[in-house]
Amino acid sequence: STARKPLFAGNWKMNLNHLEAIALVQKLAFTLTDKDFDRAEVAVLPPFTDLRSVQTLVDGDKLRIVYGAQDLSVHDAGAYTGEISGSMLAKLGCTYVLAGHSERRQYHGEDDQVVGAKVQAAYRHSLTPILCVGEGLPIRQAGGQVAYTLSQLDAALNGVKPDQAKSVVVAYEPVWAIGTGKVATPDDAQEVCGAIRVRLAELYDQDVAAAVRILYGGSVKSGNVAGIMAQPDIDGALVGGACLDPVDFVKISRFGE
Ligand code: PEP
Repeated sequence: STARKPLFAGNWKMNLNHLEAIALVQKLAFTLTDKDFDRAEVAVLPPFTDLRSVQTLVDGDKLRIVYGAQDLSVHDAGAYTGEISGSMLAKLGCTYVLAGHSERRQYHGEDDQVVGAKVQAAYRHSLTPILCVGEGLPIRQAGGQVAYTLSQLDAALNGVKPDQAKSVVVAYEPVWAIGTGKVATPDDAQEVCGAIRVRLAELYDQDVAAAVRILYGGSVKSGNVAGIMAQPDIDGALVGGACLDPVDFVKISRFGE
């Protein structure tokens, strides 16, 4: 995992208005050092309504924090009331966009085909998709976590070309670990993340498989991140709850140190 720069992305979910967003990003910027940014990439994924404020702050203070959105439309423009396009996000300086977060799949009916279309929409606007995959508890209990997660991966990458696939970020987020305080063991997380990398080599080639960053997500905190980051196929974390605490998020981005 030497060539892959670790990524720690904070998924704010539906928390913090644009003023609170500025306060949190300022706290992160105050604490993170150049050494931290040399070692790992730190990203925030605020609600859409916060992005312009984050952009202004990041640009104005030349911060090394990067940012992105939690979702995007499959469409680029038009009569789609309430939707936000990839081009709008690109114009706001977004680097990343989540595709297929389990809360979108659960509460907004996003299936593998929609998630695949969102990955395509991200690439059309030079956004880097963070593709979220992972099994629910019944599938885990039946031992089906690898097969299920790989089927989500296959579906979402259908039609993604090798040069695009190289830049994708895959977040393995077992649904039973999200927001529950039940973190996967490092071995359980590695099992699936390792299988994801093997599948990337099958779908593309070794170069692509070696380049793609695979994150773990699900109740990551500063106290459990070190064991997760010690795994060979885990290149960072997608962090929900703990990312709203700047002290803990910075500590997470330092691998728990
Ligand atoms: C998430 O929503 O992507 C997530 C990992 O949440 P939490 O860290 O709160 O489990």
